Amino acid sequence: MHELSVVRALLTRLKPYQHREIRRITVEVGTMSCVDGERLQFCFDMVKEEAGLSGAELVIQVVPARAECRHCGRHFTPDKAGDACPCSSHDYTLTSGRQLLLTEIGFG
Ligand SMILES: [Zn+2]
Ligand SMILES: [Zn+2]
Repeated sequence: MHELSVVRALLTRLKPYQHREIRRITVEVGTMSCVDGERLQFCFDMVKEEAGLSGAELVIQVVPARAECRHCGRHFTPDKAGDACPCSSHDYTLTSGRQLLLTEIGFG
């Protein structure tokens, strides 16, 4: 379950802020990031107490992928990896959707 290592990396990033009471952690997860939101939530809930974050809630904002086709120039939203452009080309650039970002820390 690689979501657990994602959570561990997140906890490391939160360490410097834990002298204050963290109530909310917001992350942006792209639909092409290979991270499952439900599993991410599950892993966070599993470790949050031992990490001293029992009062914190994880908010996951799913960001749809965006792609630009090199063949027809169209911008479109692939649902999953391997989806073709409406022109049926697979030659496109993902301009968004791979991100996994810590965007906000809410303090109590
Ligand atoms: Zn363009
Ligand atoms: Zn196209």
